[in-house]
Amino acid sequence: MKRSINGGHRVVSLMGFQVLAVIWLLIQTVPASAQQSPPDNDITKLAEDVYLYRHHFHQTLFITTSQGVIVTDPISVEAATWLKAEMKRLTDQPVRYVIYSHHHDDHITGGRVFADQARFISQAAARDHILRAADRNTPVPEITFTDRMAIDLGGKHVELIYTGKNHSDNSLVVLLPQEKLLFAVDFIPVETLAYRTLPDAYPDEWIESLKRVEELDFEILVPGHGRVGKKAHVGQFRAYLEDLRAAVREQVQHGATLEEAKRNIRLPQYQQWQRYAEWLPENVEGMYRYLSQPRP
Ligand SMILES: [Zn+2]
Repeated sequence: MKRSINGGHRVVSLMGFQVLAVIWLLIQTVPASAQQSPPDNDITKLAEDVYLYRHHFHQTLFITTSQGVIVTDPISVEAATWLKAEMKRLTDQPVRYVIYSHHHDDHITGGRVFADQARFISQAAARDHILRAADRNTPVPEITFTDRMAIDLGGKHVELIYTGKNHSDNSLVVLLPQEKLLFAVDFIPVETLAYRTLPDAYPDEWIESLKRVEELDFEILVPGHGRVGKKAHVGQFRAYLEDLRAAVREQVQHGATLEEAKRNIRLPQYQQWQRYAEWLPENVEGMYRYLSQPRP
């Protein structure tokens, strides 16, 4: 591991997945009181020419090539402005493509910062949401796809894949086959519960979309929030959603009210996960409302 500190920002080089695992272990064994609060922004090198940019609680991936840079979510005007300036330390190439992971504005605002040089890409359904939102900081994607597309730039091959509805109706995954790395935002949290009451989500389709992700060939899982994981975390999160659905369905079938279901359901096999105490009742609520809807 090579680690350099330059003018208040961090670039950490990771020479393979084992090193990542060692770092988690180190992070997890340091008592919370001994940890410094992280800087507002940092950049971590995940593989050759592949970087993770973290801005507060949000994360995005970017890939440098000899013919330009590929950036995923801009996050915000502030984040994109910082990243655009900081990238100049790593490459003299302009940003050629900005890929929106899905339409939620906490991830994709700020693309305007790259609009002088980049083309914007999303899954087809995201474009409709972005058009309706009409935010001047979020350029409308001019390139869209339904199931799958590839970008080849400066010797880098990047695949964009739509695995179905999940946390939104337009979440794509970014697969780097050479690096065996997958970037997925908001629908595969790593050992963390699903966000609150599952807003905007399609729980049954979500489980199916995770099965499609499990069929892809990769090792490193990079989420839009929280720590980097590995492929096994996809199956673990799918099992969580399946267990949540089964527990809520049982309550609904026995005529439990929402409040009773929230009180009754415990999933102790996940109690070590992030946000278990706060979000389990909210996850139950989201699933309860979903399962209680009349079906066609
Ligand atoms: Zn989202």
